[in-house]
Amino acid sequence: MPDARLRLEAVAHLDNCIFCKIAAGAIPSRKVYEDDELFAFHDIAPWAPVHFLMIPKRHIASMADATNEDAAWLGRMMVLAPKLAIEQGCTPYPAGGFRLLLNTGAQGGQEVHHLHVHVMGGPRPWLKG
Ligand code: 5GP
Ligand code: ZN
Repeated sequence: MPDARLRLEAVAHLDNCIFCKIAAGAIPSRKVYEDDELFAFHDIAPWAPVHFLMIPKRHIASMADATNEDAAWLGRMMVLAPKLAIEQGCTPYPAGGFRLLLNTGAQGGQEVHHLHVHVMGGPRPWLKG
């Protein structure tokens, strides 16, 4: 009997997942970027002058669920992050820069269980982090 959680995570979109709804446009967000696989939008409660989230459109709960099949879009996300950070107003490296954060699991501080990369930057102080 397959594990129910694994079967749920195999689907492209979860009906009760807030980030699946944001990627599908069913819940409004301030969009930063979109392509066929990836979506980026401003965090609703920013910690820093620039704070947006990058997500895959396909539902995957966390980095703990990533496999070799996810390596290509994960790599693309990492390469895209610096470009979007600059577009969104982060000061260029090395004087400026940005922080990438991937909270994973309860002890990792993850609250929304659809994999997302926080991209934060801009002049300090920040609210946290
Ligand atoms: P986590 O703690 O899971 O790494 O971070 C989840 C992030 O998602 C938080 O920073 C939170 O502010 C953001 N967030 C939660 N719900 C929404 C939403 O409905 N819209 C947007 N734009 N951000 C959200
Ligand atoms: Zn989702």
